[in-house]
Amino acid sequence: MAKPNRNYIDGEWVTASTDETVAVHDPANPDDVVAAYQQSGAADAARAVEAAASAQDDWAETPGPTRGKTLREAGAILDRQKEALTDALVAEEGKARPEAAGEVQRAIDIFYYFASKAADLSGTRKASSGRDANLYTRKDPVGVAALITPWNYPIAIPAWKLAPALAAGNAVVLKPASLAPGVAIAIAEALEEAGLPDGVLNVVTGPGSDVGDEIVGHEAVDAVSFTGSSEVGEMVYERAAAAGKRVQTELGGKNPTVVSASADPEEAAEIVASGGFGTTGQSCTACSRAIVHEDVVDEFTDALAERAESIDVGPGNAHEMGPQVSAAELDSTLEYIEIAEDEGATLLAGGGEPEGSAVENGHFVEPTVFADVSPDMRIAREEVFGPVIAVIEVGDFDEAVDVANDIEYGLSASVVTDDHTEANRFVDEVESGVVKVNEKTTGLELHVPFGGVKRSSSETWREQGDAGLEFYTIETTVYDNY
Ligand code: NAD
Repeated sequence: MAKPNRNYIDGEWVTASTDETVAVHDPANPDDVVAAYQQSGAADAARAVEAAASAQDDWAETPGPTRGKTLREAGAILDRQKEALTDALVAEEGKARPEAAGEVQRAIDIFYYFASKAADLSGTRKASSGRDANLYTRKDPVGVAALITPWNYPIAIPAWKLAPALAAGNAVVLKPASLAPGVAIAIAEALEEAGLPDGVLNVVTGPGSDVGDEIVGHEAVDAVSFTGSSEVGEMVYERAAAAGKRVQTELGGKNPTVVSASADPEEAAEIVASGGFGTTGQSCTACSRAIVHEDVVDEFTDALAERAESIDVGPGNAHEMGPQVSAAELDSTLEYIEIAEDEGATLLAGGGEPEGSAVENGHFVEPTVFADVSPDMRIAREEVFGPVIAVIEVGDFDEAVDVANDIEYGLSASVVTDDHTEANRFVDEVESGVVKVNEKTTGLELHVPFGGVKRSSSETWREQGDAGLEFYTIETTVYDNY
């Protein structure tokens, strides 16, 4: 059994009060134990919140440029560990190596980005209506922040919550997802080495129903930032908001790419495949609905099915598409495939577990394409979170936009078109937090806001970019009549 990784509370690496650990297995080869982590309980979470509360004032008073220096140093430490972090991410979560390397790089870049933001935190000075008076705003940290993250971007998402929270002067408790907590713990190690004061960051692993629930409800927590499923996120939102906390939740998606009659069908198929099969379809922004004009639908679906069949599935270190993260996620995808067939969709590619010695033990599934999907089928409405794309045929652009919007989610949407008017109409009319033209639905830049609408988000605060800092700061207006 590999070494048990510990909780990080008040500057100490400690075991859980439960005395229990839980093993994480390699999803490409589940017989291999990658590591074991603390199976903490509510008491450990409460200790972490208390440590953060004790550290809060001093960290808030630490000058922004000094906070920034610590973040920059942590970024540099992670940068030096890039290869090892990529290995850890492939082993725990199963991502294909280039995807894992890209995610690690994103986490590093986020630390550098918010390091400079910490040095630059400012309010605004305005002209006062009175003489001999100053009128200005100042920005202060909101207080102790509870951060709860999912397994599918296990280093980038903790980074994009932690870095702005710390930059703005908040003490933090992080609860990473249990399926892949190793790389989040590596961030804590880097911040410790960079000189972050004790108690400013606390990391507790364990079940969401115990650890997550305790930090969401704890009276010393001022803000809750959650990324994960809509089901859990909506519960967390209700609970935190009812207790008067600032709360932000970013949740599931059912992201469409509209393919216009003017699009090159092969190019569109490449865009859809990349958005839908990349990261094994396990991105909140993954494309799972291709809404295609009838004039190009045959060529498009042929090209998409051909692309699906060309994808090399296997362990992430040496193959194009890795496994699903767990047996439960694989089962859920296979169940959706069965449901789609029962509902009358036509299976064009994939549809099962691949065969061969490299894939016989892991949680692998074939990239799958369904045609003849109608917008009311479950495969067209529910988040599958696997590499499954439903092709929905439409008669015109208006119908395409209607179908794109007739859904409870609204995270990322794209259109493939050569028609400038259609592109602009899509941007105007589609209900989505991220809208893209001639691009895949996945892939985000770190310096612009990110968040969804409808059931994809609490629609309270955006993450990333300057907007990402807003959640972690309170702006006070000062009337100074001297
Ligand atoms: P999940 O909702 O099962 O878990 C997310 C986190 O919440 C985990 O750390 C979990 O332990 C914790 N949790 C569970 N129960 C809890 C409770 N009662 N109280 C507090 N915390 C609790 O999601 P997941 O399976 O880890 O991640 C996949 C989901 O995340 C997908 O739906 C995906 O679309 C979504 N996601 C959204 C975004 C986004 O930015 N919109 C990004 C990535 C993933």
